[in-house]
Amino acid sequence: MSFRFHDSLTREVRTFEPAEPGVVRMYNCGPTVYSHVHVGNLRSNVCWDVLRRALELGGYRVRQIMNITDVGHLTVDDVADAAGEDKMEFAARREQLDAWGIAAKYTAYFHDVRRKLNVRDAEQYPHATAHIPEMIAHIEELIRSGHAYVTPVGNVYFAVSTFPAYGRLSGNTVEELDAGARIEVLEEKRDPADFALWKRDDKHQMQWDSPWGRGFPGWHIECSAMARKYLGDTLDIHTGGEDNAFPHHECEIAQSEALTGRTFARFWLHTRFLLVDGQKMSKSKGTMYVVEDVEARGFAPRVLRYYLLSAHYRAPMNFTWDALTAATESVRGFDAMVRRVTPDAVAPNDPAVAVACAKADKDFLAALEDDLNISAALAAVHELRGAMNKVSAFSPADAARAWGTIDRIDSVLGLGLRDAAKPQDLGDADVQRLIDERNAARKARDFARADQIRKDLLAKGIVLEDTPQGVKWRRV
Ligand code: AMP
Ligand code: ZN
Repeated sequence: MSFRFHDSLTREVRTFEPAEPGVVRMYNCGPTVYSHVHVGNLRSNVCWDVLRRALELGGYRVRQIMNITDVGHLTVDDVADAAGEDKMEFAARREQLDAWGIAAKYTAYFHDVRRKLNVRDAEQYPHATAHIPEMIAHIEELIRSGHAYVTPVGNVYFAVSTFPAYGRLSGNTVEELDAGARIEVLEEKRDPADFALWKRDDKHQMQWDSPWGRGFPGWHIECSAMARKYLGDTLDIHTGGEDNAFPHHECEIAQSEALTGRTFARFWLHTRFLLVDGQKMSKSKGTMYVVEDVEARGFAPRVLRYYLLSAHYRAPMNFTWDALTAATESVRGFDAMVRRVTPDAVAPNDPAVAVACAKADKDFLAALEDDLNISAALAAVHELRGAMNKVSAFSPADAARAWGTIDRIDSVLGLGLRDAAKPQDLGDADVQRLIDERNAARKARDFARADQIRKDLLAKGIVLEDTPQGVKWRRV
């Protein structure tokens, strides 16, 4: 058996073999750090974390690189005129910081929340602003080879007509793109579908010297330059959200393949959006949730993680509080299972344990190998749970065997099941004491302390809910 993935470029599920045996080079398009990473962004993060962990369970070493977009992302992508304001500068104006301050603040926040969701560290998180020389070198090479041109004002564009495969990933044709392009950009660009590699702008807050004057890079070029620097000319897997396919990934392919003459990515994986009321999670519509909103409703980060990974990455997912309640039940079920698996020195071996564990190991990995069929993978865990519940006591050998399987499963799910199995060190009386302390802190308007107590309890698996009848609590 080996992995099979859906490749968005060929639009088919194909058998996956990395170019170098045993090593997977994976590049994930990361966040634009101009605002709080929301639960929708986290769906992508959790999804690629599960992919990486599944590949590791399958025996591969995964070299995972995720970029941090801290410059050059226009609010109206690829529009050459001044109306396309940079997202970072837009945020800087909003928050009365500068663009560098915005980037630092939201990069730190991104790492905080992904760690909360137990998303493993990638090998590197290269920042676009730290790779300007690599981007300039890439652009110079494209100009030299006739794939890019400099306009009289000093902007540089990629000439899509020089790359016949442009449009293959997204299914767009250059003619369609031309027809949809804005009239005012026609003058500067040779072809309306051409996209910016460098923007001359000495008023931009983040600006660098370049052979074309002071300015800043376009958004797409960062990924081509950084992917090449860290992983080489050809990636095994390139991922992104469904919105990244066009224009971002289409442009990355053109820039990279025009330069190297090699296939840029052997597999393109795109995750569908997390929706709210059937629409993309959106700040302006008031339907954007961050992890803190989810926690404030009494859901632990591991429940959110479980919820986000529980749907297939190529299926849209609708965010509802009911779905999080259901995820809580599932996580509690797993916790109940693992708490039962404790060795009993006098219990005899039960052959059913070995059978159930072998089946769960096999079915779980086989499901993941099948284009990350997470429903089938979770069904294998539920089946294991059913079998474990029938075991009245675990011999030490059976408990060790069961834990081997649980550890392998949790190496992918990342739910911290080992911690969940530890005896709770807080008794009911301890919890009540801390709730009383929190109530007193709130009365004294010491909200920082009150919030800290809530967080500490959550970290120990105790969820507080503020209800009209007072504070209620439960174990996660
Ligand atoms: P951005 O910060 O907007 O560049 O997004 C970072 C990553 O999150 C990109 O790969 C997006 O495709 C992905 N993303 C953004 N919104 C959503 C959403 N609602 N659901 C899933 N993924 C998303
Ligand atoms: Zn990218």
